Formats: sequence, C-alpha cells, structure tokens
Amino acid sequence: MIQTLADIQPIILVGLLIAMYSIENFIPYLPIPANKKQHDVHNFILTFLSIVVNIAVGVGVLFAVEYTAAHRLGLFNYVELPEFIEIIASVLLIDFGSYCNHNLMHKASFLWRFHRIHHSDLNLNTSSSLRFHPFEVVYSQGIYFCVAIMLFGVSMTSFIIYGTIGLIFVIIQHSNIKFPDWIEKYGRYIFSTPGWHKIHHSDEQKFTDSHYGDVFTFWDRIFGTWHKVNPDEINYGLKEFTDIKKQRAGYQLLSPFIDVTKK
Ligand SMILES: [Zn+2]
Repeated sequence: MIQTLADIQPIILVGLLIAMYSIENFIPYLPIPANKKQHDVHNFILTFLSIVVNIAVGVGVLFAVEYTAAHRLGLFNYVELPEFIEIIASVLLIDFGSYCNHNLMHKASFLWRFHRIHHSDLNLNTSSSLRFHPFEVVYSQGIYFCVAIMLFGVSMTSFIIYGTIGLIFVIIQHSNIKFPDWIEKYGRYIFSTPGWHKIHHSDEQKFTDSHYGDVFTFWDRIFGTWHKVNPDEINYGLKEFTDIKKQRAGYQLLSPFIDVTKK
C-alpha cells in the first residue's frame, strides 16, 4: 500500500495543481488580478524548477531513509512503538522540525534571501504553492529532511505519508479558493488552513514572521508565533518587491545575490 502511495505522489501533485488552479477561477477567495496570466507563467517557471530540483534531491533523501533503517539510526530505532503510533509520532516530529526550520529561514539573513522569493508574491494562488528558489529546495527538502530522518529514525512509510500530506497542504493553502467558513472556523484548531497560512504571506513583517507550521497549528500556538487577524484584511507580498518587474522568474532567481531595495 505504501508503495502505491509513493507511486501516485506525482499524480497527486499534478492532479491537485490542475484541480485547485481550475476551481479558483469559479469560486475565488480574492478577485482575480488583471495580470494573472503573466503572474502565473513566472510562478510556473519557478514551480517547474522546484519540481526538477526536488526530484534530484529526492534521490539523496531516499538514500538517507535507507541508510537510517540499515544502520538503525535515530529515535524510533531505539524506542519500540506499534507501527501506527510510530507513524503518527513521526508525522508530528517531522512537522515540528519543519516549523523550527521555517522559523530559522526567516531569522537567518542568508536563508531569508532565498526564502523571501516564496513571500514576495503579490497575488497568492495555486501557482504560488511551489514558488521556491532552487537553493531553498536543496536546503529545506534535502538537507533538512536528511537531518530530520536520521535524527528521528523516520521509516520509509512515515516519510512517504508525511511527504504526501505536506504536498496536499502546500497546494491547498496557497490556492485562491473560497472554502466553506467551517473549514476556517474549526479546522485551524489543528490544521494550518488556507486562511491561517495566508497570514504568513502578509506584507507586514510581524505577520510574515508568524504562522510557520506546515501541516499543524500546534507549534505556532505553543510558541506564540501566531496572530488573530482576519486574512481578508492583509496585503500579500514584500514591500521591496512591489515593482511588477521584480516578479519575473529571472529577477526572482537572481534576487538572493542583489540589492532588492534598488528600483
Ligand atoms: Zn515563510
């Protein structure tokens, strides 16, 4: 069964991207901007690069999972738990590690230079989901995951389950879809819902530096990195990137290495 889940991950990725991208035309959360086509083309160029780098990095991560199992490394190779409990604990621990790593990407100026590409988008929609700099993909999908896997002793099953859940969340969170109110009202007690995550894309730094959780909201609640804000009242993006020329894929790829405050 787990092999089937691994095999259908690319279908989930492409299928969900197409489904959310189509639905947001019919029930948009925010009005569709006039420059949508241009916006989406540049985002999909960055998305394509992210996916290609992710596939390359994935080979290394799978090696880390196999190496961890073969050498019995990490927490879960020392603590005997029923498989079901171990999977739940692994999903929670990877998500907590991801919360810490995401926090670090906002605090460390070198990492922020790459991560801000994801935040500089002025109009969030499905095409924003995987708008990452290739270096960030290497860092967060490669280095972070390898460290987490070896530290926690994550099994192949847990890794594939978390990877699939994370993929589904990242696409749904960024889509410009008006979801039923009950999803936001009750869902955010546990899960990082679209409305919850969109606060993380605010152009106000104190909101940008909050709502770090990928899948769960526990970590933001425990460490106080969340705000009670109506997502309808926020503006997306970063103040240095409001010039439309700075939204081009080429500029975004170069932006970690240049002074982005210059016009
Ligand atoms: Zn962020």
